[in-house]
Amino acid sequence: MSDVIDRQIQATWPEAVRDWVQMDAGGFPVCPSIPQFTAAGTPYLTVPGVTVVAKPQVRVPNILGFLDGFNDDLNFSQYVEDPTELPPGASVCKMAGQLCYASFGPKRTMNVDAKRYFDNIKESGHGSVLEHANFTLLFYGISRSVTHELVRHRAGVGVSQISQRYVSGRVLRFVERPEYQAIPALHTSFKKRIDAAAADYNSIAEILLAEQKAGSELLSADARTDLRKKVQQAARSVLPNETEAPIVVTANARAWRHILEMRASSHAEVEIRAMAFRAYLCLSAIDPIIFGDYRVEELNDGTYGLQTEYPKV
Ligand SMILES: Cc1cc2nc3c(=O)[nH]c(=O)nc-3n(C[C@H](O)[C@H](O)[C@H](O)COP(=O)(O)OP(=O)(O)OC[C@H]3O[C@@H](n4cnc5c(N)ncnc54)[C@H](O)[C@@H]3O)c2cc1C
Repeated sequence: MSDVIDRQIQATWPEAVRDWVQMDAGGFPVCPSIPQFTAAGTPYLTVPGVTVVAKPQVRVPNILGFLDGFNDDLNFSQYVEDPTELPPGASVCKMAGQLCYASFGPKRTMNVDAKRYFDNIKESGHGSVLEHANFTLLFYGISRSVTHELVRHRAGVGVSQISQRYVSGRVLRFVERPEYQAIPALHTSFKKRIDAAAADYNSIAEILLAEQKAGSELLSADARTDLRKKVQQAARSVLPNETEAPIVVTANARAWRHILEMRASSHAEVEIRAMAFRAYLCLSAIDPIIFGDYRVEELNDGTYGLQTEYPKV
């Protein structure tokens, strides 16, 4: 699998964003986000971090036993000898789509014309074919407000999100909105506020822990993890919307397309748009055929959005 980003897709991205995404040696894209710290040591992030942790692994030749079972005249077996390698998502989706019409013979659309094949799928709204390719992305450097919006997407989507009941203040980080980064007075108040929120959280947790040790019935539990949970679930109430909420999202390509269209639109909230735009960079880097129809638009506020001729396939 290629560890470089497809040149054609990269050429459609604005110059300014091309170094936001890197491809690792296994062909998994990453958009990093580096934590920063207030003078008091409270960690915060200023951009969403996105990293692809899973993508399809495909063995098209494994359908040979099935193809070999048909009359030799049909020449189906040559299907597995197509010389053009496709990205894994496009590969499994094309094979599944071509099964529908038993398009395995010499007259089928060959892999070299995969873009035309998928444009046709997208144009005709046969998006169910795109449900065969799943991609798992970890998002971090995004706030609880963003994940509250993201988890509204249900169809074809699986999520696992950090639990503020199970984790302690040691993994507490915050996210600074672009507007606060741009306006010095808001940047200063953000840093003060997150220092105070972290301090508040820790002092509430300490008080609760002391009460628990003193035998409080309300905070009692049998198991050790439940004891911690009772403290953390009460202390988390003081955490603001700008608390970081890392989340792993697995979705099929059809669902990702819908999410990108809704959340990287100019109508979307700016922080979720920044997240969705980076998700697009990663997904189009892995699969320029399935996600290659999006056009990047630079919006008036200097952020980026997406447009396509084929919405909601
Ligand atoms: C700019 C913006 C503003 C928003 N503002 C608000 C707001 O003010 N308040 C608010 O509550 N939400 C708001 N939302 C959230 C929005 O209403 C959706 O809940 C969210 O975008 C998820 O999208 P979806 O409904 O398409 O669901 P997905 O789960 O992404 O589903 C994809 C598609 O599958 C189909 N589908 C999924 N579930 C069902 C079902 N149960 N029955 C039939 N078909 C289904 C639909 O065609 C759907 O579009 C906003 C979203 C955006 C992008």
